[in-house]
Amino acid sequence: PAVGTVLIEARDVTKRFGGLVANSQVSLEVRAGEVHALIGPNGAGKSTFFNMISGVDDPTEGEVRLLGQPMVGRPSRDFAALGLGRTFQHVRLLGQRSVLDNVALGAHLRGRRGWLASMLRLDRHEEAALLAEAMRQIERCGLAEHAHTPAGSLALGQQRIVEIARALAGQPALLLLDEPAAGLRHLEKQALARLLDQLRREGLGILIVEHDMEFVMNLADRITVLDFGTVIARGTPAEVQRDPRVLAAYLGD
Ligand code: ADP
Ligand code: MG
Repeated sequence: PAVGTVLIEARDVTKRFGGLVANSQVSLEVRAGEVHALIGPNGAGKSTFFNMISGVDDPTEGEVRLLGQPMVGRPSRDFAALGLGRTFQHVRLLGQRSVLDNVALGAHLRGRRGWLASMLRLDRHEEAALLAEAMRQIERCGLAEHAHTPAGSLALGQQRIVEIARALAGQPALLLLDEPAAGLRHLEKQALARLLDQLRREGLGILIVEHDMEFVMNLADRITVLDFGTVIARGTPAEVQRDPRVLAAYLGD
């Protein structure tokens, strides 16, 4: 999609868990070529929102469109097939397997068959194509020298980048990243920020949930702030940083 195209659009999304309103009429869009950050104190509803816009959970009310398609009620593999790639808050890699194998699995997550079934049925030509695609993504992410290293022996910052490479192997237009900088050292955060900036310039849309304010403020084009399930502010980093409601929400955290 061309830069500026709306990739995902949530309109008045509400999620109730019994009597608890985890998201209340949340609206947000992410465009090709931008990094959009979703921030807010613990319990604000960020993960709930992420789950609803990736097909893990359905909204109680509201609309989610991915590249113009209405998505509510569709399974997460449909989101992946339409161009959504994601990573999870906790690293999910096969630690004993090589970086290359881990990334090659990502190319399958996009398919309609389960990846395991697909792997078992691959012929040698398909397998070679898959590994070549995985290698391209590993190079794109600057991990070529580690392609044959067991993923579990890499530093946490590199493991996070392997997860991004795996998501990229599914050819997404939009990446959802849940706290990609959590637990990383300063230099690792810088490497991650450089990669996300590169991907943005290549035209991907990126939505990150992130706690690290310095990371978010330096990287994001636009920020949406959630508190108690409600959007309390949105705008550029400079706008959001001086918003009194945002300061109050974080002081109360
Ligand atoms: P955040 O990711 O911003 O920390 P969450 O989306 O995880 O916040 O949680 C928002 C609120 O919804 C919290 O009060 C949490 O306890 C509640 N919540 C989240 N998931 C569930 C669930 N499956 N069942 C009941 N309550 C939930
Ligand atoms: Mg969360």
